[in-house]
Amino acid sequence: MSYYKDYSKQQLETERNNLLKTYNELKKFNLSLDMTRGKPAPAQLDFSSDLFDHISDSGFKAQDGTDCRNYGVPTGLPEARKLFADILKTSADKIVIGNSSSLTLMFDTLMRAMVFGEHDSEKPWLNVEGRKWLCPAPGYDRHFRITEKLGFDLITIKMTESGPDMDQVEKLVANDPAILGMWCVPLYSNPDGIVYSEETCKRIASMKCAAKDFRVFWDNAYVVHHLYDDKQGSIPDILDLAEKEGNPSRFYEFASTSKVTFAGAGLSCMAANKENLDFALNYIKAQLICTDKVNQLAHSLYLRDGNGVKEQMKKHALLLRPKFSKVLEVLDRDLAPTGTAKWSHPLGGYFISVFVLPGTAAKTVSLCKELGVALTPAGATYPYGKDPEDSNIRLSPSYPDVDSLEKATEVFCLCAKLAAIEQLLA
Ligand code: PLP
Repeated sequence: MSYYKDYSKQQLETERNNLLKTYNELKKFNLSLDMTRGKPAPAQLDFSSDLFDHISDSGFKAQDGTDCRNYGVPTGLPEARKLFADILKTSADKIVIGNSSSLTLMFDTLMRAMVFGEHDSEKPWLNVEGRKWLCPAPGYDRHFRITEKLGFDLITIKMTESGPDMDQVEKLVANDPAILGMWCVPLYSNPDGIVYSEETCKRIASMKCAAKDFRVFWDNAYVVHHLYDDKQGSIPDILDLAEKEGNPSRFYEFASTSKVTFAGAGLSCMAANKENLDFALNYIKAQLICTDKVNQLAHSLYLRDGNGVKEQMKKHALLLRPKFSKVLEVLDRDLAPTGTAKWSHPLGGYFISVFVLPGTAAKTVSLCKELGVALTPAGATYPYGKDPEDSNIRLSPSYPDVDSLEKATEVFCLCAKLAAIEQLLA
């Protein structure tokens, strides 16, 4: 069996006609399948349906006697801070608890920098002419959207197997004081599932930056989201590393329980060194009297500690593993023999990242749409929604059931093949 690139024109045309026949037959099925966003499936949410069961027994009292129904404790309950300290393997005094979305914390943190600067800034970032932000890509579209909305020029950084291309990053930040920061999803990156190597983490923590208030938004969204018990990625405690490397204020770290308990209805946290946290809290305390302590208490009682979180994540993995396996199995069976695409084999996180033949991602997505299979728009994983190669497509296996995933992936492979053949014939 040879790859498409080795086919004669006639062989390609025959293959295209066969694929078109299947494509037209599939139209009759009126499929409605969705692999767009990384949402937990209902069965995953069911794991946490007793999240609030213990709360009335507790009399809504935190461990230190705080009545969680009332105002106060703007940094969050000590037990919730300890819970996230276990998750992030850092200390509780470096953590503040937010409400239900880490993305909101990221947006607010950038907004504060825009209006007030950072504790080590010369001026508010709003006044930094031509401000820029580094965006390792493929990456998370919502990250890119935040910095785009706040008027940063987005600079695409190539991703490698060990994280962002650090040669490119170091060169850029060393010379341009208008580069103020960088997005990072260091463990099981969205969408490639890449685990940053220790060397990459060290280089990010130690690199010389022309902007002395340069910040890394270290979004550890998938810190406990392992798919396997025996093969797991790990990264160093970045706050500790930054301190050792002499750049203690470089990082803001974020996490949430959106994919541990309830998506958009769990807890979020921000972790940073004392200078960053004190500076942030000065404004946060003007913004709010406290975050939702009732939810913090519920989560602390329900998840207990790092071990409780591990147990919970094993249940998630049990449901997610067969879904990832099914998508990979169909890709291997239907797409690998064509030699036109490659894809990630993640050990955790929520996505499989596929690189179809350059120039065919948008076509593949639109062909899928016509058959009733919704995919994340092509280009979404790049700054400004523009993939220079028109190649990357993010698949999200978590929400549909295994049978639907199988069908959806078969349709995806069919469409990727059709788009590839059309490109090769053209
Ligand atoms: N960060 C990353 C990398 C994500 O992939 C997601 C959701 O998919 C989020 C943040 C959203 O987090 P939250 O629900 O805490 O706002």
